[in-house]
Amino acid sequence: MSNNETLFQRAQITTPGGVNSPVRAFRSVGGTPRFIKKAQGAYFWDADDKRYIDYIGSWGPAILGHAHPEVISAVQQAASLGLSFGAPTEAEILMAEEICKLVPSIEQVRLVSSGTEATMSALRLARGATKRDKIIKFEGCYHGHADSLLVKAGSGLLTFGNPTSSGVPNDFTKHTLVLDYNDCTQLENAFKELGDQIACVIVEPVAGNMNLIKASDAFLQTMRRLCTEYGSILIFDEVMCGFRVALGGAQSIYNITPDLTALGKVIGGGLPVAAFGGKAEIMAHLAPLGGVYQAGTLSGNPVAVAAGLTTLKLIQAPDFYTNLTNQTQKLVGGLNAVAKELNIDFCADAIGGMFGIYFCKDVPNSFKQVMQADANKFKQFFHEMLELGIYLAPSAFEAGFVSAQHTNSVIETTISAARIALQKLTCK
Ligand SMILES: *Cc1c(COP(=O)(O)O)cnc(C)c1O
Repeated sequence: MSNNETLFQRAQITTPGGVNSPVRAFRSVGGTPRFIKKAQGAYFWDADDKRYIDYIGSWGPAILGHAHPEVISAVQQAASLGLSFGAPTEAEILMAEEICKLVPSIEQVRLVSSGTEATMSALRLARGATKRDKIIKFEGCYHGHADSLLVKAGSGLLTFGNPTSSGVPNDFTKHTLVLDYNDCTQLENAFKELGDQIACVIVEPVAGNMNLIKASDAFLQTMRRLCTEYGSILIFDEVMCGFRVALGGAQSIYNITPDLTALGKVIGGGLPVAAFGGKAEIMAHLAPLGGVYQAGTLSGNPVAVAAGLTTLKLIQAPDFYTNLTNQTQKLVGGLNAVAKELNIDFCADAIGGMFGIYFCKDVPNSFKQVMQADANKFKQFFHEMLELGIYLAPSAFEAGFVSAQHTNSVIETTISAARIALQKLTCK
């Protein structure tokens, strides 16, 4: 038995499913999850000492590449001064100032420890500030695992949603309306019907949790206009795409100003930091200033903030995002060329340092279209690539991530592997 298999069996004795977050269990692709021992740059190594080119980057945070020496040294330095104080620190101010500078729609920000906490708190804030209960989300967008967000569309267009997780009471989701991503007409109709009851719309402006799906300009503009018209709060969940698609996040690419933004992943540089922020006028509703309660024992933790702040400094290097975008484009360009050459229904798309691969002819733009891609082909491709030392997301419904350490030779190795893997698929 391989070390990975031994560890997986052992893990399942004391941990449900052997993992601490479900996608890690490889359920949607089958097989044994790889237990990671160490990571450096674009690579990580599993328990059998096999090396992989890593395209999940801890699901986004590892934008500088793993174990960047400056980040590691900032963490060591902070740790030597004590791990947690439960009282404010100067580093938290620096972190807040940096976020407000880089994302101008954020006038004030609060640090939390996970993306789930950030979106959950932003929702409560939106409801508290508007004194309304109803919220709109879009099918296929993931905003963490708060009760009122684990919802799928109800039976009718304007009926409220049903829980997608057991343990979530129907009553907790009855205020959540689930609409189709990139569908402006549905959004218009929903607001016409219920606009004055809608506290907020929450959206991934670049969706990365149903594979990669880009919002259309019209979709986000319609959303912005309707929220303004009806006094609803627009929340951009940039936990994944923030500091990933561009330095100023998706909002800087689409040139749209949300009222609130949720951040996570990259802003912790690999440690647990997330944040939500926006208009000072809205943020003033938060305790201790206002009546919306929100708190966290480890919020703004000094060691985590050291990793986050150093990461935020390093991604401001000249041409950082130009280079990241170029490398990601080289990857998807190469994959698309191979697919064309082999005449296989496969395509790839990217924005900034995020990419998607799809076993269908054209790049999808909705959850329904993503669902139509060939899941079996993806599974085979995933395992062929894994065998060849390329670690892709173990699910057809996750985006991929490139880091600043994915050099030309790393990308070329990946494309050569993909040629072999895709060739095998055409033979089957
Ligand atoms: C990852 C993610 C979350 C949840 O963040 P966690 O830190 O895993 O709780 C929320 N929203 C989006 C868009 C995400 O990608």
